[in-house]
Amino acid sequence: MMADKGILVVVSGFSGAGKGTLMKRLLEKYDNYALSVSATTRAPRPGEEHGREYFFHTKQEFEELILQDALIEYAQYVDNYYGTPKAYVEKQLNAGKDVILEIEIQGALKVKEKMPETLLLFVTPPSAQELKRRLINRGTESLEVIESRLARAAEEAEGMPKYDYILINDEIEECVDTMHSIIQSQHDTVKNRESFIEKMTEEVAVFKKGEEV
Ligand code: 5GP
Repeated sequence: MMADKGILVVVSGFSGAGKGTLMKRLLEKYDNYALSVSATTRAPRPGEEHGREYFFHTKQEFEELILQDALIEYAQYVDNYYGTPKAYVEKQLNAGKDVILEIEIQGALKVKEKMPETLLLFVTPPSAQELKRRLINRGTESLEVIESRLARAAEEAEGMPKYDYILINDEIEECVDTMHSIIQSQHDTVKNRESFIEKMTEEVAVFKKGEEV
């Protein structure tokens, strides 16, 4: 039997909400997830590798990907381009994997428009103070970058109502488990159970006709 298609999940959230750790734990703890690796023009942070955290490109290379229609969506975020490569996502969904895109809000809304069945999750710390504390403690960005990311958070907060679920990341393991159960419950929506419904309907129709099963 062919595997049902996977669920496309978009995870957004404030910079510093702990999305990276959340994704890492989700993939360590549960099977059947594929994390899409985005393309970006921003410089790698210490420890980041090409092809693992991101595909790092020059602006010219990135614009080439746009022209080739190789991205599902792309957006500009604090002076850099970020985009989702199309081929990998389609391949994994067709193989029945639940594919996670960790992208910002403009991209999230573009994906939802193109593929309305996409599940949109928004991750947030329990408070604004905690958000600031986490960004500063990460220690990977200059004060200037931190300030622009906090300013951006105010805009991003306005997008929260457009998401399907809000995940409050207070205790990481709890948040990972909640996220997993939300995604898994999507497999049981009527839309995603169409082939089962069809099969079951045909099978029970036999009872009505009084035929043997
Ligand atoms: P960072 O520079 O902290 O890794 O990412 C900055 C922002 O870009 C984050 O909000 C992240 O979710 C978003 N982002 C990462 N990849 C993509 C992508 O492929 N498309 C879009 N639209 N946003 C992305």
